[in-house]
Amino acid sequence: MSAFILEKLCRGCQRCVHACPNQAIQMVAHMAVVDPEKCVECEECMEVCMQGAITFRDDREEKKEALGHG
Ligand code: SF4
Ligand code: SF4
Repeated sequence: MSAFILEKLCRGCQRCVHACPNQAIQMVAHMAVVDPEKCVECEECMEVCMQGAITFRDDREEKKEALGHG
């Protein structure tokens, strides 16, 4: 299970790209995309994302609900 970026929330700031120790994140059309093959699930990207756009697949639904609270 790799990191997953919620497209609607990503602002393309590239903080996660620079934070990833394994170069698993790339910018594609101004949006960050995680390569699941490279992701080592360290959560560094999640820590630096100001938009809360990064989550992990198995808690994606939970995260969506949490977003409702601002
Ligand atoms: S840190 Fe967050 S908002 Fe910035 S590019 Fe990465 S996913 Fe998008
Ligand atoms: S969890 Fe770690 S390895 Fe995976 S994309 Fe985020 S920073 Fe990179």
